[in-house]
Amino acid sequence: MKRIGIYGGTFNPPHAGHIRGAAYAIETLELERLLLIPSCISPHKRLPDHSPAPEQRAKMLELAAGVNMEVSDIELRRGGTSYTYETVEQIAVQYPDAELILLMGTDMFLSFLTWMQPQRILQKASLGVLYRGDRDELEEIEAQKKNLEAQGAKVYLVKNPVTAISSTQLRRMLIFQCAGPFLPKGVESYIRKNGFYGTAKDYRNLSLEELEQVAVSLVKPNRVAHILGCRDTAAELARRWGANETDAARAGLLHDITKALDGPLQLTLCREYGMMLDAFHEKNPKTLHAITGSLVADRIFGENREVVAAIRSHTTGKANMNTLEKILYVADYMEPNRDFPGVEKLRELAFTDLDKALKLGLEMTLKLLKEQGREISPESAEALAFLERSGV
Ligand code: FE
Ligand code: FE
Repeated sequence: MKRIGIYGGTFNPPHAGHIRGAAYAIETLELERLLLIPSCISPHKRLPDHSPAPEQRAKMLELAAGVNMEVSDIELRRGGTSYTYETVEQIAVQYPDAELILLMGTDMFLSFLTWMQPQRILQKASLGVLYRGDRDELEEIEAQKKNLEAQGAKVYLVKNPVTAISSTQLRRMLIFQCAGPFLPKGVESYIRKNGFYGTAKDYRNLSLEELEQVAVSLVKPNRVAHILGCRDTAAELARRWGANETDAARAGLLHDITKALDGPLQLTLCREYGMMLDAFHEKNPKTLHAITGSLVADRIFGENREVVAAIRSHTTGKANMNTLEKILYVADYMEPNRDFPGVEKLRELAFTDLDKALKLGLEMTLKLLKEQGREISPESAEALAFLERSGV
């Protein structure tokens, strides 16, 4: 019996992770054809503001589709909320002699029984689960497979070797202009031509208020309070120490602008910007957000050299820092949302002796890294040595 795959989703936008995963499923499950089905309105997630219309998501999917993939507008034609059971029943009428395999990721599989009419889906289709293969994940998946099989389901598990990237991350990468490696040919130019996902906006010369809005939209929700606190604290310290308050506030808002990107995406950004990395950063992508943040502050936001430099050294410090660099380093450490033993001492020093505050911050960081058995960046060691030589 021939097999037809069904792969639905919002595809906002479709990216290489979808298409490579789909190609892999076609091969391993020996699908004769795979139907890519953009949802009209997803029952599972609300799309971010300014997302393309359903027809435009379908158009992008047409551009992205690979060999033996076909975009189906079945859910667009039905309109309204797209329920998978309705889609599967419709397709079953079109292909009465085929085995239908409904593809999904781990999360969707684990929540399958909460979908609308799961039993009606199982009557018409098998399930094909593309999973990532972490160990605890696999246990849960196996348990769910057994559970569903007891209810008459047929389940195929496919270990997906394709690197993970989410559409949320991809939209960030688009704004930072480094999404190219994750977008099928034609999709990126279509996105930019239509200005989807904020790609038409010029991010240079934003007012402080506009910059705040953009920064808030690009960091993770749990980091918003931190960047706002850092902006305010940096500005206060600038007033205290005679640095430029606006620069301090802008650096505070932007210093963690790329922090939401995981290690591999940090490395991609560096590669796309032509940035060569030293051995320490290659091995420790966690500290990379200072470098990538400064690159983005420069090229995307058009910030001045002082702001860019302050962001560049905000995690590790460096020898011979200027006032703004010290301010951002210290503000990041002691803004009002920070809470750790010793923070009060640091807050006091920040306004009485900036160099001593910087030194205390560096010492605490190095001590923590040592305790955790982690490698210390050469720049932090040099920063501390410099302060000691200067008699701080
Ligand atoms: Fe940071
Ligand atoms: Fe920070």
